[in-house]
Amino acid sequence: MRGNSSAYCIALAASLLLASGNSTALQLNGARTQGGLVIGRVAPRERVFLDSREVRVSPDGVFLIGFGRDAPSEVKLLVQNRDGVRVEKRLSISKRSYKVSHVNGLPESKVTPKPSDMKKIREDNAKIARVRKLDSAEAHFMTGFIWPATGRISGVFGSQRILNGEPRRPHNGIDIAAPRGTPVVAMAEGQVALANSDMFLTGKTVMINHGHGLTSIYIHMDRITVKRADLVSRGHQIGAIGMTGRATGPHLHWGVSLFNTKLDPALLVGSMEGVN
Ligand SMILES: [Zn+2]
Repeated sequence: MRGNSSAYCIALAASLLLASGNSTALQLNGARTQGGLVIGRVAPRERVFLDSREVRVSPDGVFLIGFGRDAPSEVKLLVQNRDGVRVEKRLSISKRSYKVSHVNGLPESKVTPKPSDMKKIREDNAKIARVRKLDSAEAHFMTGFIWPATGRISGVFGSQRILNGEPRRPHNGIDIAAPRGTPVVAMAEGQVALANSDMFLTGKTVMINHGHGLTSIYIHMDRITVKRADLVSRGHQIGAIGMTGRATGPHLHWGVSLFNTKLDPALLVGSMEGVN
């Protein structure tokens, strides 16, 4: 009994230490806001749980957590040390407001696909979903992130799109408008997990696996210059801007996901001025 109560006291003390922000082991870097990605670090062999789901931690203690477009105002992070003692930290997630945008003039066949096209769309979506399930150990994302192309931002993360008057799912990436043929590069080191030149909605599409469930997607490209399983470094050209699939003009749609949670790519990179 005495042993248990002293273990409890140690856990309580550790918990208070963490709650007061004095933890020496736990580090969190990144935007604690809706759409944000945080790169965390704990001591080697510690375990991390986000809202009671275990998160992959690399041998040197690096882990990722992400917050979706409509993430709640608070999430619960648990760190379990090598002795099995768990300490809890509550993270505040700041709320954002999203704009509503109207896109008109799309061919009706692309806004409301024909039943015969639905089969192809479902097959494409299944291929994309499979990549978003990958949970590989390599922490390629540690190279940091850059803009995959430069141009005018023509669509932002989280906005609600009204296509030809019909409300659709919120926009889950960022659109960069630039002339056809403008190079598109990998936002970080990673492995090409999908290179498909014929997707119904997204056209020529590349997905890169950056490890720990983090993937990026590049769509509507004019051409693709990598193939599946290629290892790419940050800044390596993967294709060129185009308007294949459902697009009204040449632009790159760039998306970033942590498993199925869509993140705001703009939060990973600084201003576009003077980069690439
Ligand atoms: Zn887009």
